[in-house]
Amino acid sequence: MVKSKQLQLDAIKARITEDNVCPELAVQATQLVFGDGNPEAEIVFIGEAPGKHEDLEGKPFVGAAGKFLNEMLSSIGLKRADVYITNIVKYRPPNNREPLPSEKAAFLSYLQVQLEVIQPKLVVALGRHSLNCFLPGLSISQVHGQPKRIRINTHKPKGKGTTEKSDELVLVILPLFHPAAALYNGAMKQTLIDDFSAIPAIIKQIKDSK
Ligand code: URA
Repeated sequence: MVKSKQLQLDAIKARITEDNVCPELAVQATQLVFGDGNPEAEIVFIGEAPGKHEDLEGKPFVGAAGKFLNEMLSSIGLKRADVYITNIVKYRPPNNREPLPSEKAAFLSYLQVQLEVIQPKLVVALGRHSLNCFLPGLSISQVHGQPKRIRINTHKPKGKGTTEKSDELVLVILPLFHPAAALYNGAMKQTLIDDFSAIPAIIKQIKDSK
């Protein structure tokens, strides 16, 4: 029997704990912040790492940046329950420092299988960490708002930090400024709102091109 997407996601979440991913982050965090929303979603939003509020609530984007994200979702007629939201790194880095390259690398195979289960039409990469996880070397200020189709060879986590080659995954990535960065920068905030408003047209284009 094929397991539901939710059950498959639950298994990936359990696997992160079993595999003891980033133990130095795990000991300092309140809990693992795996993801939130609809496993059948057409759109997945990927941020950087949980902050203080996310760490306490166990859900991504529930602080000020999350409130802004909710407002932008509502401006295109969507609720959080219509989309799926997660982060690259799934434990809060201490003192809200940026996630380290080794931490992003440690969580990458789990993020890839998360996307393999959900099979979204569009992946919205929020901020440069998320963008560079899929498209290394690109600058968010140069490519924001421009959807890019990519092909990745996914790696399934095999335990003890090792992975094995899995399938090929085709994704459309839409890089956007991070809502936390844009919140207090008027020009960036307007650019983010403008880029966000194009999401319904981008989804339509993806569907029409199938
Ligand atoms: N910023 C992120 O990148 N992720 C969150 O979950 C919250 C703030």
